[in-house]
Amino acid sequence: MRERKGFTLIELLVVIAVIALLMAILLPALQKAKYQAMRVVCMSNVRQQLMIFFTYAQDNDGKFPPHMERVPMRVKDTFDPNELNIWSAFRKSYMTNSQILICPITRIIGAHYANTDFVPNMDARGRTFGGWDSKVAGTNTPSSVISVAYNWYANFTPSEWEPVWPVTFHNGERPWPKNTVECSSDRTLISHNIMANEWGLYDNSHGGTGTQQQSLKIDSSKQIDNPIGLADGHAIYRLKSKTLLRASYVGDRGLAELYY
Ligand SMILES: [Zn+2]
Repeated sequence: MRERKGFTLIELLVVIAVIALLMAILLPALQKAKYQAMRVVCMSNVRQQLMIFFTYAQDNDGKFPPHMERVPMRVKDTFDPNELNIWSAFRKSYMTNSQILICPITRIIGAHYANTDFVPNMDARGRTFGGWDSKVAGTNTPSSVISVAYNWYANFTPSEWEPVWPVTFHNGERPWPKNTVECSSDRTLISHNIMANEWGLYDNSHGGTGTQQQSLKIDSSKQIDNPIGLADGHAIYRLKSKTLLRASYVGDRGLAELYY
């Protein structure tokens, strides 16, 4: 009898089938683990941003930085003559690591705003948002506007830049604090950006699309959660099904609604 060398075709097929089966079993688990890791990074981002808010307030008689962009997610605008933006307040010394502005989950969502006046802070590959130091895509020019995946509500007054529009609160949400004296667990400082205006819905959250959707609908069937930074200094995960309209104002683009 001759010693057999190599595999038969059947043996090879069996091995391939076993590998395929293992991958089918393991891949969802791996993807879930990766998602969970990114979710934890995002929560850490929110906690660090909370800390920055309170550190800033401590150094400024308890007041949070004035924040007068058109929407809470706009953090830098070189056209603002008064520099009343969170970028100028934080950039100088409080936020040394701009990476905490990037949610790894929404980063995957990709380029968001199609509006040309709303220069997205895309990286060289034309995706993502977040980061002080972002450039206009494909150039070395700093972006005039930076938007992040997070909405910052502390001492935020929507303005473009006059008049200052009053904010209405819904579903039991209490007004955003201007200072630490107004801080309590039933007020919110930070959430992911989920916003509707006359242009559509921007769902820059976990399980969102990030792109401009024409239907004003939050997909609350998704059992995905988003971190929320509360005004008492701690952060919670809130299920998407619990995401509600909590604030609105009439802005230069009509009615603007904030969900978190
Ligand atoms: Zn996130």
